[in-house]
Amino acid sequence: MPTLTRRSLLTGTATTALFAGAGPAAAEAPPAGKQAPGVYRYKIGSFELTALYDGIWYRPITDKFIRNASFTEVEHALDAAYMPHDKLETPFTTLVVNTGKKLILIDTGTGGQISPTAGMIGDNLAAAGISPKTVDQIVISHFHPDHINGIKDKDNALVFANAEIMVPAPEWAYWMDDANLNAAPADLKLTFLNQRRIFSDIAPQVTRFDPGKEVSPGIVTLAAPGHTPGHTVFAIHSGDQSLLVLGDTAQHPAIFARHPNWQAAFDVDGVEAVATRKTLFDRAAADRMLVTGYHFPFPAYGHLIKTAGGYEHVPAPWQPNLQ
Ligand SMILES: [Zn+2]
Repeated sequence: MPTLTRRSLLTGTATTALFAGAGPAAAEAPPAGKQAPGVYRYKIGSFELTALYDGIWYRPITDKFIRNASFTEVEHALDAAYMPHDKLETPFTTLVVNTGKKLILIDTGTGGQISPTAGMIGDNLAAAGISPKTVDQIVISHFHPDHINGIKDKDNALVFANAEIMVPAPEWAYWMDDANLNAAPADLKLTFLNQRRIFSDIAPQVTRFDPGKEVSPGIVTLAAPGHTPGHTVFAIHSGDQSLLVLGDTAQHPAIFARHPNWQAAFDVDGVEAVATRKTLFDRAAADRMLVTGYHFPFPAYGHLIKTAGGYEHVPAPWQPNLQ
């Protein structure tokens, strides 16, 4: 075998030598031009989980993106993650939990109403062989539009017609309060108004749960305030396995796991968000729990390990078999 050097790779001499005698070149094939379905399954005990990719939003950011770090520091973190300086890569991954008795959808994606590069839940549900009509329960982590807009389509029709919708009671109390709407700055008012578009006409059908309660056998809710006042995470237990569903405890892990003290401009209470993040990440790292994060790169699950300055997300390897 020839010696591979960077120079020989660049000039092609090594590859020419490597593939010499490999036979005639393959015939031309048309490019596929599109991505494969964003569906990934894994198991927690006897529960089968299906991660469904909704797409990605390239969220514009400015030098005000992190409240308590200089933009120079932020730029270093973005460079380290091979990310641009003016956009935060924000992928969306929802989760269907098949408990054997029920199909439960945790957060609903963007409904195609946030970014032209997101809104793929419908296609990916179909690719996974799941009809929206068969979803029994929707459980919401918090009321930001990328988590609730998928409840309805653009024409305000319910997408999951037979699902009970369960939301954190403190989240409802904060966002559906008209005094909070009236006191909000103009851009945040849009968030409040969007929540009314989604929830007002279906309010009697929406179940509000207190964090700490189970929403279904094996799915425990935990208060995780800061990102929003009622932000809630979920611990899924089956057999001797557990998964912590982190929601927006941290957005992209290359930024917020590595820099857990950073307060994002989009957190309602940055100090509380940091405290919640560190408590949950410490627990996940110490207990070696599997975690999934709504804005982690697809399929958005793996482990968290503690490092000198923060945490590192260790993605789980692709597993061909469900065991
Ligand atoms: Zn989010």
